[in-house]
Amino acid sequence: MQSDIYLDANATSAVLPAAIDAAAEVMRSSYGNPSSSHAAGMQARVLLDEARACARRVLGAGAGSLIFTSGATESIQTAVLSALCAVRARQAAGQPVGDLLVYGATEHKAVPESLAHWNAVLGTGLTLLALPVDGRGLHRLDILRELAPRAAMVCTMAANNETGVVSDLDGIDAVLRAAGGAAYWMVDSVQALGKLGLDLAATRIDYAPFSGHKLYAPKGIGMLYVRAGAPFTPLMAGGGQEGGQRSGTENMAGIAALGAVLAALEQGGTFRSHDQLAQYRERVAHALRAALPGVLFNAPFEGTLPTTLNFSVPGFSSKELLDLFDAAGVRVSAGSACSAAKAAPSYVLQAMQLPDWRCSAAVRMSFGPLADQAFIDEACQRIARCGEALRASGLLGPGDAVAGHDGVVQLSADGANSWLVLDAASRSAVVIDPLPALAVRIAGMLLGQRYRVRAIAASGAGPVNGAARASLAADLGELFDNVACDAHGWPIDSGSVQLGGGTTVPALALGEQVLARLAKDEVLPAGAYLLGRRSAAGLAAADVRFAFSGATAVPGGIDSSLPVAQLRAAVQRLAALMNRDTLLCPAVDPDGRFCTTLGTEGRAGGVLADLLAMQPRLARAALPPMDSVMHLEAGALERFLQTHPDAVLVDVREAYEHAAAAPAWQGRAVESVPLSRLVDRVAGWLAGEQRPLVFFCRSGNRSARAAQCLHRLGYQNAWSVAGGVALGARTLDKLAA
Ligand code: PLP
Repeated sequence: MQSDIYLDANATSAVLPAAIDAAAEVMRSSYGNPSSSHAAGMQARVLLDEARACARRVLGAGAGSLIFTSGATESIQTAVLSALCAVRARQAAGQPVGDLLVYGATEHKAVPESLAHWNAVLGTGLTLLALPVDGRGLHRLDILRELAPRAAMVCTMAANNETGVVSDLDGIDAVLRAAGGAAYWMVDSVQALGKLGLDLAATRIDYAPFSGHKLYAPKGIGMLYVRAGAPFTPLMAGGGQEGGQRSGTENMAGIAALGAVLAALEQGGTFRSHDQLAQYRERVAHALRAALPGVLFNAPFEGTLPTTLNFSVPGFSSKELLDLFDAAGVRVSAGSACSAAKAAPSYVLQAMQLPDWRCSAAVRMSFGPLADQAFIDEACQRIARCGEALRASGLLGPGDAVAGHDGVVQLSADGANSWLVLDAASRSAVVIDPLPALAVRIAGMLLGQRYRVRAIAASGAGPVNGAARASLAADLGELFDNVACDAHGWPIDSGSVQLGGGTTVPALALGEQVLARLAKDEVLPAGAYLLGRRSAAGLAAADVRFAFSGATAVPGGIDSSLPVAQLRAAVQRLAALMNRDTLLCPAVDPDGRFCTTLGTEGRAGGVLADLLAMQPRLARAALPPMDSVMHLEAGALERFLQTHPDAVLVDVREAYEHAAAAPAWQGRAVESVPLSRLVDRVAGWLAGEQRPLVFFCRSGNRSARAAQCLHRLGYQNAWSVAGGVALGARTLDKLAA
């Protein structure tokens, strides 16, 4: 099994072996309560005191206090509560106090959310104001200078978690001092620990939160430094632990583990130096530049943590890059909040005023100071493999032509489809129903494979999308036959072909295939295209493999609202032109059905049943509910594959993901069928013997959709690996070995 290359250290880190040992030892042997007065309690107290003393030395806490908390979020609450309680007391006493809560525009959400929360709960009525940053991500000190005299509290992180940008704390300190120093100052120091030198008591920082799990301690342990003399209000009251500043029996396992990390920091020798880490970053950046031409780093390396790289690659979404890296076993995160379908743009990069696409397409790679040469070597190799996978898939532009693929490609955006009809032998293609959101991607694919594009046309009743067509035409340049067309984008003087019913219609020859245009007329309420292999007689109904059918699943724009007589005529006409297994490819596909057939619709009491019975009702075939799709849980998968030696494993991830993961599949044939090629492959599966098909992908979502599509088309022997390679990996890898 390929090992993980974990490059998401700013999200959380592995636990230092010495920290695991320390925690285990506490749980095993020193499990006393440090508040107890017996020997077991005293042992625990010694441990607690030692960990705190070490933390104080490492942070330079001086006369300030250092309390253990559950993590940075709790520490931030405590700091904000403390400052705002003091503000409220001043307000009540009629003393001068600022009216602003100023926080850096790139702070972790825990900060503005806590400010808003406690401001509301305490009724302090202050105004929250985000302090802008400049293009390098540094706080705008000129603006802070204006705001500082009115600030009751100022929150400015030490280093940013998305970009690694290190704040100019000395500059901020000077501005606050010049303004009279009345504002309470919190510096979220989570990302600084272990990566930047800290000497807190030498500054006038009032509060500094820390989190254990960002530096090789477990989750659930953190710290808060409070400057001597800074106001303090406990968040938790109770047994008076932590000198009454944070009640509740201490998390001794967590404290012991964090203590071990801090001891390693203090002693040196465990973690890499700043210079060494900066060299590692340079190597990773070099690997990225070589693998992903055009990569842009979103923060200058100078002035950022040496362990963080944030970048965007033109033409790729962060989701695509994440999937690619994940396939190669490289765990990274989007530089922005990423939901399943779409990445929300990064507010951190937006605050730095980077172009929109870079804010939505960002990827963050971060490693910890424990990284070593071997780890960085392996990371660079995997990055190179990702670049090769993209190149082999023809996704890195015109210079990287690869062997063409015949057939039909489906590209989807927001429940709509664009279809590419590709003929490898003649290197010619037609784009059907181009969508603006997909234009750049489509152009990239066609340019990469150097297809000559014969038409860019719409299949339904409406005109072709002008913006998408223009964008494609511009990108394709001389590869596009930009001849005179009708409003649908169909070339006016295309050739023609005779169809099954004997009529002759306009058609484009694509090698041995032919794409015939059914125009909207008095029988058909909308147009459609039929694709199949041409014979001497023309395009026979039996040879029509695909029909591109516009807005409705059934070509010709047929829907149940049509008058019965027209409906009957239209259905009869279509039945004569294609066959029961012709794959109907819609332009609009909100349920993610991929395609259907007249046979399928008929079986489910839908179109074909109606067609045969000449009934006007046109209910669509119901999708089987997801839980009826055959999911193979990780445990069942191995058994299934042993008892079904004829089963075919089908990787439905993108071709570049499959290629990036390739070494894992040596020794076992795995078919790569990205969802964009599913419809093309479906025809062959439906026509063959029904061997078990075991679909898998990264998380189990895409494979479930593929299995569901096959089921609906009547192929019962289709399965999906639940949880994807993330969970089924052991079994799949075992088989690959
Ligand atoms: N502040 C920063 C800068 C962070 O990166 C994080 C973690 O993502 C937090 C605060 C919250 O830390 P915790 O998970 O310990 O609550």
